[in-house]
Amino acid sequence: MERTAIRRRLTWQVATVTDVRRETGTARTIVLEVPDWPGHLAGQHLDVRLTADDGYRASRSYSIASAWSDSQGSTIELTVEQVPDGEVSPYLVDVLKVGDPLEIRGPVGGWFVWKPEQDGPVQLIGGGSGVVPLRAMLRAHAHTGSTTPFRLLYSVRRPESVIYVSDLKELASSDDVDVRLVYTREAPAGEPRVGRIDADVISKYAFTPQDGATTYVCGPTPFVETVADLLVAAGHDPARVRTERFGPTGGPR
Ligand SMILES: Cc1cc2nc3c(=O)[nH]c(=O)nc-3n(C[C@H](O)[C@H](O)[C@H](O)COP(=O)(O)OP(=O)(O)OC[C@H]3O[C@@H](n4cnc5c(N)ncnc54)[C@H](O)[C@@H]3O)c2cc1C
Repeated sequence: MERTAIRRRLTWQVATVTDVRRETGTARTIVLEVPDWPGHLAGQHLDVRLTADDGYRASRSYSIASAWSDSQGSTIELTVEQVPDGEVSPYLVDVLKVGDPLEIRGPVGGWFVWKPEQDGPVQLIGGGSGVVPLRAMLRAHAHTGSTTPFRLLYSVRRPESVIYVSDLKELASSDDVDVRLVYTREAPAGEPRVGRIDADVISKYAFTPQDGATTYVCGPTPFVETVADLLVAAGHDPARVRTERFGPTGGPR
């Protein structure tokens, strides 16, 4: 790997907020203009660092929600779900505004990524804000005109918790993408099932072990561990199950 590319990833740089979009009552998408963005793979994340007036610093990881192509130049998107009493996420969701600077470092990560040239179908399984890097993969799939079969299984508490509602509707209209939502607390009218992803849901909606799919699972740590266990118990090859846990990150720095 080129030394300049590595240096750029490890060096903090200042992005500028060019747009913000409310996704749900507790989540919003932040559009950033990043000078000299080196590009990223769908599924990668970056680090965000906040500095208080007294010099106190805190940094956290956030997945990149957008796919990257040359034509997009240096624009990237993050989607942040507010964690109650959190140090960083409430600022990003409620306070940061268009025109503000934001320190970032990245892109980071080489395993939880989808590349269009990869073999085999793709199963995406997200819980809550774990849908963020999966959205980048879905957008990369659309941008590149890939015909690789994609399936998204997305677990949310209730209809108002769905992030990327219009995006998902549009993506679901593609013949190559199947989108299924699972509601854990309250389902919309006409949807009888309320409950978590279980073995039955996996066997009904996910690719079978014989399909040779690569599965990407992302969300809170307990969600990821439960789903990964269900997949392996159903006969999926653990080597084809890639996971990303959105547990607490960072801390003061
Ligand atoms: C690789 C990676 C990618 C991530 N991508 C995203 C993303 O795209 N969007 C996003 O919203 N978040 C993402 N996260 C989570 C994010 O890094 C922060 O952990 C989250 O925003 C909370 O930070 P905070 O400073 O507000 O809370 P903190 O001050 O760190 O924590 C406050 C309290 O909440 C608990 N807590 C912290 N994080 C979480 C969490 N994720 N879920 C439940 N409880 C938590 C802590 O244990 C603590 O009790 C990602 C994490 C990782 C590791």
